[in-house]
Amino acid sequence: MKLNAKYMTRNDCFTVGKKISPKGIMVHSTATPGVMAADWFSRWNKSYKSGETNRQVCVHAFVDDKEVWQYLPWNHRGWHCGGTGNNTHIGFEICEPGGFSYGKGSTMVGYNVAKNESYFRKAWQNAVDLCVMLCQEYELTEEDIICHSEGAKKGIASNHGDVMHWFPKHGESMNSFRAAVKVALNKTGGKPTINQSTSIQVGDVVEVKSSASTYYPGGASIPAWVKTGSYHKVTQIISNGKPVVKGGKNCVLLGKKVDKKTNKESAGIMSWIDVGALNVVKSSKPPDNQKLYRVQVGAFTNKGNAETLLKKLKSAGFTDAFLK
Ligand SMILES: [Zn+2]
Repeated sequence: MKLNAKYMTRNDCFTVGKKISPKGIMVHSTATPGVMAADWFSRWNKSYKSGETNRQVCVHAFVDDKEVWQYLPWNHRGWHCGGTGNNTHIGFEICEPGGFSYGKGSTMVGYNVAKNESYFRKAWQNAVDLCVMLCQEYELTEEDIICHSEGAKKGIASNHGDVMHWFPKHGESMNSFRAAVKVALNKTGGKPTINQSTSIQVGDVVEVKSSASTYYPGGASIPAWVKTGSYHKVTQIISNGKPVVKGGKNCVLLGKKVDKKTNKESAGIMSWIDVGALNVVKSSKPPDNQKLYRVQVGAFTNKGNAETLLKKLKSAGFTDAFLK
């Protein structure tokens, strides 16, 4: 899944800035033939208050056969379902392919199933992948996923037919969609699909790559001073016993700043960041295959004499010296 992020900062939904704790995911489809995920930015990044659009609507993301475009932070309250589902559900739209039109209500006219099968499969897969990522990020399961028409039946969304006016044409339903998400979640043992064997450990001193633009896909952008001002020390790599995944990426916490010249540590920026955005400057532990040779500088029968020498060594700068 290729995930892109660009927020609709002009949309009134964004500027209202309400946050939610996502408890579920609502799947929509656009009912707008042939308009793909990237195209929706210019269509919807408009202010209703300022008279730039006649609709008050905004969703978290659009999915097509090629990519996902995220347009709101996942924990931002969206305007996607016209009901209380907006308070609890992340909402995304699957883009519908071109080459047909809409009749009355949600009837697809001239929809060629065979011609659209390959588009449908790819868009379906991207939607499954997105749900897997969000389930992992917000500790949800496939049972927390509904479509707009199911939301209407539950009384938490307006009376729309998506996606059940479309999925059955390709022999699918929301039950088979949830089943596909379940299979994908089980495959990873409920764990993120990304590589967990990060080489970054607690205590490592790192720098933020100059090429990194956001802390993680969909996260805040990284100010220049974070990259150039100092190094950072990684202080946490798990939370509640689990790897921390944000925007589908394995993240670590930059809990301390480290002066580039003096190595002096100070209060950190306390941001979680994708390990892919980091270079290790100084590793906190030697690689497994690295042998260490130790030099003994004295042997004593009197412990006090040993302690005296240890003090001497430490004050001379051998701060790692120890007694055995
Ligand atoms: Zn909908």
